[in-house]
Amino acid sequence: MPEGHTIHRLAEDLESDLQGGPISAFSPQGRFTDGASLINGCLLLRSEAWGKHLFCWWDNGSILHIHLGLIGKLRKFKIEKQPSETVRLRLESNSTAWQLTGPQTCSVINEEDWEYQISKLGPDPLRLGKRGKKQFSEKILNTSLPLGSALLKQDLIAGIGNVYRSEILFIIGIHPEIAGKNLTKTEADKIWDTAVVLLRKGKNWNKIITVTHDDHGGRVTKKTLRENALYAYKRSGFPCRRCETPIIQNTMAGRSIWFCPSCQKGPNA
Ligand SMILES: [Zn+2]
Repeated sequence: MPEGHTIHRLAEDLESDLQGGPISAFSPQGRFTDGASLINGCLLLRSEAWGKHLFCWWDNGSILHIHLGLIGKLRKFKIEKQPSETVRLRLESNSTAWQLTGPQTCSVINEEDWEYQISKLGPDPLRLGKRGKKQFSEKILNTSLPLGSALLKQDLIAGIGNVYRSEILFIIGIHPEIAGKNLTKTEADKIWDTAVVLLRKGKNWNKIITVTHDDHGGRVTKKTLRENALYAYKRSGFPCRRCETPIIQNTMAGRSIWFCPSCQKGPNA
């Protein structure tokens, strides 16, 4: 599933690509014909991300709301490329086309609906940076959920997915079974600060790379290979990059999570 950094990046790319002239919107698949007709021919005013939600604002007051979910994709194509019949929505300027497939949500909403949608979301590290720390700390220190579950809850922190939850907890050395309410204020702040740094880097590089120069043993760039890019995620059985203990895989909130049993001390340690 795309995490918040991808959606923020998409919001920026869509804006720079589609702003300026009228956009044709249609649904090659046919499942979004009515929705597309509400924005067809409109100008894109702006597009913005809140966590994993994307909102595109049009000059007739309509707002396109997209959540990619597990398998959704929003990608840019050459204007000449004909859409396949799996495309839910195609947005065309006179020079480029964006195609949406397999979204969890694709709808046209008004401002009231938009307010409702964002009211359900916790602070987004990419929107708020340092300013979100207080709000996040209050929320996380108040939950009895283990961190592995809490970090996926979009009303606690918006934009974190399965990769970042494993990586953040590894980096700050906290076990995913530890409950939010058992953190110190400093630890809670550290989670937020780490999320801000990692998501910003993810957005700039358009991929998730969390290892640092020190742990990687070389220069880390956006070309760093996937197998060298992460500490814990999908590394079960591989040696921890810091202590060489094999990384362990577990299931939390219905999804796999990875951690180092030595660097990340458990709740009873
Ligand atoms: Zn370790």
